[in-house]
Amino acid sequence: MTTVEVPHGSRSFVLRVAAVIAETADTNSLVFDVPDELREKFQYKPGQFLTLRIPSDLTGSVARCYSLASSPHTDDQPKVTVKRTDGGYGSNWVCDNVKAGDQLEVLPPSGVFTPKNLDEDLLLFGAGSGITPVMSILKSALARGNGKIVLVYANRDAETVIFARELRELVEKHPQRLTVIHWLEPLLGLPTADTLATLVAPYTGYEAFMCGPKPFMDRVHDALGSLGVPRSRTHAEVFNSLAGDPFADQAPVEVSDEEAADAATVEVELDGEVHELSWPRKQTLVDIMLAKGLDVPYSCQEGECGSCACTVLEGKVEMENAEILDPEDIENGYILGCQARPVTDRLRIQF
Ligand SMILES: Cc1cc2nc3c(=O)[nH]c(=O)nc-3n(C[C@H](O)[C@H](O)[C@H](O)COP(=O)(O)OP(=O)(O)OC[C@H]3O[C@@H](n4cnc5c(N)ncnc54)[C@H](O)[C@@H]3O)c2cc1C
Repeated sequence: MTTVEVPHGSRSFVLRVAAVIAETADTNSLVFDVPDELREKFQYKPGQFLTLRIPSDLTGSVARCYSLASSPHTDDQPKVTVKRTDGGYGSNWVCDNVKAGDQLEVLPPSGVFTPKNLDEDLLLFGAGSGITPVMSILKSALARGNGKIVLVYANRDAETVIFARELRELVEKHPQRLTVIHWLEPLLGLPTADTLATLVAPYTGYEAFMCGPKPFMDRVHDALGSLGVPRSRTHAEVFNSLAGDPFADQAPVEVSDEEAADAATVEVELDGEVHELSWPRKQTLVDIMLAKGLDVPYSCQEGECGSCACTVLEGKVEMENAEILDPEDIENGYILGCQARPVTDRLRIQF
């Protein structure tokens, strides 16, 4: 039994686990009760994730992100789905310990792995636990959009397929719109870029979303690249563990007179509004936006979750850790606000 009564920081909330669903032998879903007063805070877009605070005897706690597998358009309660990682701490703790009625500390939904338009034709790729955000997108697009959807779903074997029955039922319900292709390793071996390219060649006009282990996503990127799908129409969610503590409140960063005098200037567009801010060079974009009280999207603050991704329209930044971004994305001006520090004197950035 886990009981948390008081949130650890000002951004987090305590939610009750309404149900635990054993999806497969090594994967459990947690369904959360969201009380009326937190409904607005916990509104989410398909493909977004929650961050859970998991107790640890060694470090006090660890923070782990889990994508919402539920759809905001078809499911009353948010649900995350956690697959055990061999030798992993957090995922095994969740699967071993969390029961219905327990309370967990959670950061509100975050993330940018979400379709701009649910009416688009969608080409979805999921491998293993990478199905979770993809499932939310798929269910949402079926419920609220009118495009066609093709899902390529790779798994080690039939027993490890998460949401197998739900997918079968969705195909039966939407035979004209949804195609699900199960890629099972014992039958087909590991997917290669060539085999994937042949499989999805008819769908190159679709908007692509992918989530799974890095080798899988590399092959999907190669396959789509070889078919000439523009990078701007492919979206990837990378599953990493966080090292820091995004639940702790941050102390305000002190800026000396010298640093203030040398600061860059940035015009940031957020939710359609433009703000001009002074940007001291040792601070990150997220730091300066928080200091101004702006509602900047962010979560982990260590360059791992992608919530603060935005685009540089003018000027240049440097980033300490941007490994989750592909070189092509960076070339196209895509940056992580929590890692970005100014290089040029004037910048324009759009969220
Ligand atoms: C945006 C986002 C969404 C995500 N959504 C999901 C989801 O929907 N479902 C899901 O199951 N996961 C998801 N993840 C992944 C999840 O957050 C965790 O990374 C995952 O559960 C593994 O965490 P863990 O604590 O069990 O493993 P960790 O303890 O972090 O270990 C991970 C791996 O690293 C190895 N390792 C650990 N410590 C060391 C070390 N010191 N040296 C060498 N190797 C080490 C472990 O052996 C293991 O193989 C998501 C991640 C992100 C960023």
